[in-house]
Amino acid sequence: MIFTYGGNIKVDIVGGSISGLSTAISLKEHNESITVIVHEKHKKIGYNHEGRRCGEAHSVESEWKKWRPEKKSYFNEITKGEVIIGSKKRVYHREPGVGYVLNRQEFICQLAGKTEKLGVIIQTDDKIKTINDLDGKFIVDASGCPSTVKRELDINRGIKGVTYQQTLEDSNYFISDTLKVIYTGNFGYYWIFPRDPKKKEINIGIGFSGNFGYNLKNMLEKFKEGRKIEGKVNYVAGGLIPVGLQRPLIHNNILFVGDAGVGTFPFTGQGIYRALISGNVAGKCIARGYPKKYPHIINQKFIKWDLIGKTFIRANYIFRRINPKLVLASLNYFTDVSNMIR
Ligand SMILES: Cc1cc2nc3c(=O)[nH]c(=O)nc-3n(C[C@H](O)[C@H](O)[C@H](O)COP(=O)(O)OP(=O)(O)OC[C@H]3O[C@@H](n4cnc5c(N)ncnc54)[C@H](O)[C@@H]3O)c2cc1C
Repeated sequence: MIFTYGGNIKVDIVGGSISGLSTAISLKEHNESITVIVHEKHKKIGYNHEGRRCGEAHSVESEWKKWRPEKKSYFNEITKGEVIIGSKKRVYHREPGVGYVLNRQEFICQLAGKTEKLGVIIQTDDKIKTINDLDGKFIVDASGCPSTVKRELDINRGIKGVTYQQTLEDSNYFISDTLKVIYTGNFGYYWIFPRDPKKKEINIGIGFSGNFGYNLKNMLEKFKEGRKIEGKVNYVAGGLIPVGLQRPLIHNNILFVGDAGVGTFPFTGQGIYRALISGNVAGKCIARGYPKKYPHIINQKFIKWDLIGKTFIRANYIFRRINPKLVLASLNYFTDVSNMIR
């Protein structure tokens, strides 16, 4: 039976990227009578090149299978992951059809295409300056990090990190099926992901929790120099990244999804699958008439890794002060333990 709020209702979604569109799809799939309006500040969905491009690594396991990218929405299938911690290298193999490096713009267009088929209204060039302008029964904040809605309400809590990423063309480090994550023992970690094979592109970046006032660009350049990583920079991205859950997840009639709510996985900065899952859950909770359950369901899904991740990050602040070698030792230990409990 379809739930109704005693007449048709409207939901306003702020942000037309991954979490906003997955919320819209879920709302319509679970209750087609709801009017759903997605407000996106950019002129184009997906193809807004002013919009953020990220590392674009995405995996579809268990419940995430719903969000499998179509052929044109990804550049590469990933079957190998290398995690390098100091001098120790671990290699992980995955079966095909699970790991991808997305073509993010196309993937967002894939989601947008689905929303339009379901009757969602997408309004582009529509920057929401204040939530007072929205009259929906519910508002879903999918505005990313930092969340414009949380800033307006002055409820922007949660640990944030900083990132800096370059896309290099014609790179000698392009390996189409392999992701590399490297911990050097300094702050944070580096990643090297293969992008467009036609251009032999890689996405190479640095990220860490907290903002220590370091020059990330210089750190990345030194890293490239040390490993003789070549390629022409053709795109730069980065900025704040939300580390783990960004409470509150609900505030009056506003539900927070994606970077604005569930943030990214505290160890790797993966936010795409979390944006998709949180949108899916938020949409279902509203459509089925139990919006207040949204934070509980999200906590059940993410709290374990959130607690482990945040404890680990805090412990590392202390280890760094005592002896930076402890950071690498704890990372190695943690990686072994987490593989056991995963
Ligand atoms: C450098 C970097 C590398 C990353 N690498 C990876 C990776 O490899 N894998 C991974 O899984 N995750 C990665 N992430 C994280 C991932 O990009 C995010 O978690 C994900 O994009 C969150 O999606 P979202 O829809 O919540 O927010 P966003 O993608 O940030 O979208 C927010 C949308 O809201 C719109 N908007 C904002 N304010 C308003 C407003 N006032 N009115 C209307 N519209 C508005 C914006 O234009 C945008 O379209 C990375 C992040 C960074 C910064």
